[in-house]
Amino acid sequence: MSTNKKVNVIACSGMGKVYGLMAREAVLHTVQRLCPEQAKTLCLAYIVTGDEEALAGFDNQPCITVDGCPAMCSAKSVAAMGGDIKEELKVLDVMKLHKGAKPGTATELTPEGWAITEEIAAKIAERVQEIQKEER
Ligand code: SF4
Repeated sequence: MSTNKKVNVIACSGMGKVYGLMAREAVLHTVQRLCPEQAKTLCLAYIVTGDEEALAGFDNQPCITVDGCPAMCSAKSVAAMGGDIKEELKVLDVMKLHKGAKPGTATELTPEGWAITEEIAAKIAERVQEIQKEER
């Protein structure tokens, strides 16, 4: 396991929006499959409500926020709680590269939606690796 601090990758809650679902799935794909040794995720609601256990894994650790849309709920909330944000990613920015794509609904992604979600996860993982190098 890396001796570096794990990077916190924190998705917006995104309920009711396909871009929110993509943000959550991309974060899970990153921390469970692409770089489980270098990254972990935390529940945004726990951070916002000041849950002690969540904040213990949050303080003084680099963060990447992943938001569905320009409301940037995760980035704003993590910043408000004093998080050390190294990167703010937005699903909508990636969707702009896939004009006309049909990613699915708020509850279910299409194969195209999963493919774009994996692309987002790859971007997150790339930043995780870079941040870990910067933190050395
Ligand atoms: S950033 Fe957008 S998709 Fe995510 S929780 Fe906020 S409003 Fe919903």
